Amino acid sequence: MNCISDYDFALVNTTLRGILRARGDESEMRSELNILCRALLGLPASALTLFPERCLTREQAERLTTILPRLKAGEPLAYILGQTDFCFLRIACRPGVLIPRGDTELLAETGIRHLPENGRVLDLCCGTGCVGLALAAAGAAVVCADISEEALALTRENAALNGLTVRTVKSDLFSALNGERFNLILCNPPYIASGDIEKLDRSVRDFEPKLALDGGNDGLAFYRKLKQEAFAHLTPGGKLLVEHGYDQGEAVRRLFGEENTTTLRDNGGHERVAVITQGEI
Ligand code: GLN
Repeated sequence: MNCISDYDFALVNTTLRGILRARGDESEMRSELNILCRALLGLPASALTLFPERCLTREQAERLTTILPRLKAGEPLAYILGQTDFCFLRIACRPGVLIPRGDTELLAETGIRHLPENGRVLDLCCGTGCVGLALAAAGAAVVCADISEEALALTRENAALNGLTVRTVKSDLFSALNGERFNLILCNPPYIASGDIEKLDRSVRDFEPKLALDGGNDGLAFYRKLKQEAFAHLTPGGKLLVEHGYDQGEAVRRLFGEENTTTLRDNGGHERVAVITQGEI
């Protein structure tokens, strides 16, 4: 090898594939390899096999060297690279705030589909702000609320990053939203049963905030609170949209009333989002 740096593409290819294979199955490995190559080299992963003799610049090699131990430790890519994609947005990520999931795009897309003209939207438990920002991009006036200061700071960064405006409010569910009403309330609350957290993938369990995952004994604690509090914050005809676990669709329908609840499935075919109207009380 005649590189100024210690790496040519062939070596990058074998090194990264070796490490990534230990992190997931073949399709996850390919997807992570592609994301890494684009972030590091600005090229698709196929470039590694097409141009095995090409060399990394010294800067690229240095970046790779700092990334490798974090990859080996199983840290999520979004934290290592400091960003991920969500819907049509670039979302900054860092430890302490849950990484946006592909499944959550369904919540944002469903919100956009139900958005009335000049709609006011609350993104409750906003995390990185990804859901609220997608709604803001679609023209909604959005309040992003979270109990975590770190989440709110990141939401503000992400608004700036995407040239969008949202209002951020530090609030334990509705505690700081007295008297405010919205056309839509979107919420991706913590919904993992406390006892299941230990069973999650280590990339989630060891790196992502428990605060954003732990939904109490049966994972449904936040839906019960939403049932008590959300409707007082909806305008007449307003809707509550929640994300839930792949196996919680029936429990959520039962809680809010079958007749008030429509369940939508994610790309994996799992029940994932409930659209809830207040119904009779
Ligand atoms: N979907 C997340 C996971 O599988 C959980 C997010 C949440 O609790 N809201 O880790």
